[in-house]
Amino acid sequence: MKNGSILLSLGCLLFLSCGEKAKNEKLETDEKIKSVSTIENTKKSDVFYHYSIWWAFVNKVFEGDITAGELKTKGDIALGSYNLLDGELIMLDGKLYQAKENGEVLEPNDSLKVVYANAAFFDKDGSFNIYKVENYETLRDTINKQLPSKNFFYAFKIKGNFKYMKCGGLHKQTPPFEEGLDVLIPNRPIFERENFSGTMVGFYCPEFIGNINVAGFHLHFVSDDETFAGHVMEFEAENLTVEFDKINQYQFVLPETKGYENVGFDKEFQYKKK
Ligand SMILES: [Zn+2]
Repeated sequence: MKNGSILLSLGCLLFLSCGEKAKNEKLETDEKIKSVSTIENTKKSDVFYHYSIWWAFVNKVFEGDITAGELKTKGDIALGSYNLLDGELIMLDGKLYQAKENGEVLEPNDSLKVVYANAAFFDKDGSFNIYKVENYETLRDTINKQLPSKNFFYAFKIKGNFKYMKCGGLHKQTPPFEEGLDVLIPNRPIFERENFSGTMVGFYCPEFIGNINVAGFHLHFVSDDETFAGHVMEFEAENLTVEFDKINQYQFVLPETKGYENVGFDKEFQYKKK
């Protein structure tokens, strides 16, 4: 099995499309009838692709064995990081970005290695607009009220005008790695900007995901002018359009690297309550 790929089917697609229509009516959904029921026939957009696992990433597995080019075959939106934590990874509409620790935003070469990624082919199931968003917590509360259920995975594209945005980066590491993400994330480089437009891309995972992924919301950002990007920490926004894609299958691929072979799952780290 190449790359140790494991495919988990988290439910029957046919079952999902029943019984939830009523809840979705207010959301201007454009759900199509999903008549497929096997993994082989499933549309690629219904799979959450996950390279490495959060717990390994937290515990210093900072070198991966897939490339940026390969990641582009797994989705058209993504978030994650590059090898040696050389920048935050953001993919929007098939275009990949690398937000470096000095704040520079590059479009990486397809050969650049990826250490950690979440990706999906975005297939909009619903959308809604929010006139004013005071902060991240307000957005989470609003989205939580709009989602059909908190027990599925979701991908998001959230576009609008940002009065303020605070993004986090990562300091590039050199082996042997001393600290895990439990230390590096609280000490990450921070970038701020005011009054501009852009798009947040990211994912929601139910609490049951545990240490396999980030529980709750995880969003990355890229500005429309492609000069500002990173991991979303805080913001204030107006006229946001939230598009979501409900996902009921989850695939994770484990790195076939020495770092992963030998990782001890000693440390735990999760972002604050989402
Ligand atoms: Zn992030």
